[in-house]
Amino acid sequence: MEESCNSTVQVLRESSADKENLSSFEPPTKKIKLTDAFSEGKSKLEDRLSGILCCAVCLDLPNCCYQCSNGHLMCAGCFNHLLADARIKDETATCPNCRTEINRTICIRNLAVEKAVSELPSDCAFCNQNLPRYQLDYHQKEQCQERPCSCRYARIGCHWEGPFHEVAEHERNCIHPRKTGEEVMSSLEVIDVQKQEEQKLYSDIFALLSFEKITFNDLQLKPFRTDDFITRLYYETTRFTAFSQQWVVRANINSDLKNPTHTVNRSLSYQLVVKTKLTAPMNMYFLALSGPFGGIKMKSKIYSFEFTAENAETGYVDLPIDSVECNKLLASKTINFRLVMFQVTK
Ligand SMILES: [Zn+2]
Ligand SMILES: [Zn+2]
Ligand SMILES: [Zn+2]
Ligand SMILES: [Zn+2]
Repeated sequence: MEESCNSTVQVLRESSADKENLSSFEPPTKKIKLTDAFSEGKSKLEDRLSGILCCAVCLDLPNCCYQCSNGHLMCAGCFNHLLADARIKDETATCPNCRTEINRTICIRNLAVEKAVSELPSDCAFCNQNLPRYQLDYHQKEQCQERPCSCRYARIGCHWEGPFHEVAEHERNCIHPRKTGEEVMSSLEVIDVQKQEEQKLYSDIFALLSFEKITFNDLQLKPFRTDDFITRLYYETTRFTAFSQQWVVRANINSDLKNPTHTVNRSLSYQLVVKTKLTAPMNMYFLALSGPFGGIKMKSKIYSFEFTAENAETGYVDLPIDSVECNKLLASKTINFRLVMFQVTK
C-alpha cells in the first residue's frame, strides 16, 4: 500500500483546506491532532520532525527561522509580526510559548532548523512526486513532466495549454504557424494592449515612488470569524501604524460568491481600513506585494482612495493572485504580505 509521504502538518492542512471548516484554524486543535497521529503510531519520522520544527505560532515549516532564548521556534513572518504587534500596543514582545522577552538582539536565527526543514519531503503540486523541499521549486519550474505549459505559438493566437509531456506533440500539429499574416494580426493586437497595460503599471509605480510620503508595513492576515459571516472566509491583520494613523487590512476569500467553500476556484480580496478618526481627508494610493516573508507570486495592482472621517474603509479590491497561489496561501494558514502606502500631499 502506498502511504502518503506528506508531513502530518501538510496532510492536516490539505484536509482542512478542502472542508468547510476552513476558518477554524486554531493551533491547539491542530496540536491535538498531531499528538493523536503520533500516539496511533502511524506517523513517519518526517511527520514527527514537522511537528518539532514548525513555527510555534502558525505551525508552518519555517524557511527562515528564529528562536527565543529558551529555544522555541518562530518563522520570520510570525517573529516580525509579534515584534510589530508589541510595538503598536507599547508592550514588550514575548515568546508565545514561554513568555520570555523576544527582540532582534535576544533572538537568533536557527540555521540547523532551516536546513533540516529544506530536507523534509514535500509533494509536487503537479505530479505528486515526493521531493526534498529545497528541490521543489526547480522541479516544478524545470523538470516536472506534468507542469502546465502553453504552446510556443501562443503569441500568434494559440490558446492551447497542457502538461509539459504533451507540448511537443501539440506543437507538431498546431495550426497556428500556417496562418496568414492577416490572421495573426489580431492576436498581436491583443498582446499590444496587454503590454501597454503593463507598461502603464510600471510607469504608475515609478510615479508613485516619487511621492513625498511613502511607507510600507509587512503584515500578517489571520483567520477571523463573525457570526454573520460564518460561511465566508475572513482574515484580518492586527492594527498597524502608517502616516501617524492606525490601520487594519481585512481580506476575504471569494467575496463574490455565496458559499466560497463550495468552489475550487479561489480569489482573495482585501480592504484597507483606517481605525483612527481622521480630522482631515487623506488621499492614499496603496499596493500589495508579496514581501520578504510572503513566498507567493502576486501581480501588482495599484488602488487609490480618499479616506475621510465618514469614509474610513475602501471597498474590497482584488489581491491579484491566481487560484493555485490562493489555495497555497490558504494552506499556509497565515498570509504574509507587504502593503506599500503612498500619500498624496497637496
Ligand atoms: Zn509562523
Ligand atoms: Zn520561548
Ligand atoms: Zn512534478
Ligand atoms: Zn498551438
